[in-house]
Amino acid sequence: MSSRPFNFSAGPAALPEAVLQQVAGEMLDWHGSGMSVMEMSHRGREFTEIAETAERDLRELLQVPSHFRILFMQGGGLAENAIVPMNLAGRQGLGKVDAVVSGSWSKKSAQEARRYADVQIAADSGPGGYRSLPSPSSWQLRRDAAYVHICSNETIDGLEFHELPDLLALGSEAPLVVDCSSHVLSRTIDWSRVGLAFAGAQKNIGPAGLTLVFVREDLLGHAMAICPSAFDYKTVAEANSMYNTPPTFGIYVAGLVFQWLKAFRHGEQSGVAAIEQRNIEKAALLYAALDASSVFETRVAAECRSRMNVPFYLRGAYDTPQLNESFLNGAKARNLLQLKGHKSVGGMRASIYNAMPLEGVQALVAYLKDFEAQYG
Ligand SMILES: *Cc1c(COP(=O)(O)O)cnc(C)c1O
Repeated sequence: MSSRPFNFSAGPAALPEAVLQQVAGEMLDWHGSGMSVMEMSHRGREFTEIAETAERDLRELLQVPSHFRILFMQGGGLAENAIVPMNLAGRQGLGKVDAVVSGSWSKKSAQEARRYADVQIAADSGPGGYRSLPSPSSWQLRRDAAYVHICSNETIDGLEFHELPDLLALGSEAPLVVDCSSHVLSRTIDWSRVGLAFAGAQKNIGPAGLTLVFVREDLLGHAMAICPSAFDYKTVAEANSMYNTPPTFGIYVAGLVFQWLKAFRHGEQSGVAAIEQRNIEKAALLYAALDASSVFETRVAAECRSRMNVPFYLRGAYDTPQLNESFLNGAKARNLLQLKGHKSVGGMRASIYNAMPLEGVQALVAYLKDFEAQYG
């Protein structure tokens, strides 16, 4: 077992230690090329192999159908909030976007899309404090919307869609756009319900700077005239993500994470099915400890709880600045890092992405119990 601390950062987040070690070993000389991956031409033979392998492994891991293109882009999730409407909102000249607001990230997405489209909020769980997801049967969807946007895992508020909505069954033929930044590769995806999915890499995939876009082929080629060429999905797809220089080092590290995931085993399973099972167990262990606690609490409805991001708070009279600080200081002393909650909601947050081993969650649970014994 490693002596590195357990890192609960929401992002940029922990990477598998085996991947970091491989990166360190290959830093000065990748596979006898005499070059670091950072020093290679993105069009050279070596990097072409790295990028093609990464894409193939990702397609295999998530079983991405052949009528979807996988793009390696820059700009992160927030840039996609503009890039998506610039590419999709103008389809058939409609300019209408239906947005489901279920937390801080989807709220931001809807606000940004307003700069490019006529945005209607299909549902908003903000008035309830983002403690549950708005039920799809209640969504106000327009027949002629260019797309419907959701965030399938709300990183700050700790809510996750455990099933993607079936828009056709809800009477909408619009493609579903999914911001899956903070849980991509933590579980399987039902592509039949998706038009486009995007994810910044720095939560569950690799270093910051790389953005993954999965886009159905029929959605390419509708960009608005104002869309920068480097952000036009058709241009990027036609150039195999090499229209501009892609984030080469990020793609390389992500590729190693994909190989780590392919080799991941859990019982009879491997790959994403195996990590999903492990993620279910990790989350169950942590939520069970919080539910049993008289000092800590979670605030999200049980059926919407995220397996990846677990915000938790000191209860009632315990929720003082001093005790919050004691908790975080004590965590650090035990090698449990970056448990402070997002500044907009306070409290604590444990992000338990793929790279967090079960032992990390067990160590956190042991600390919760000890803390409760000391202060409860
Ligand atoms: C982190 C995050 C983003 C923002 O990513 P940036 O790379 O900072 O632009 C967007 N959406 C979700 C769900 C996130 O977790």
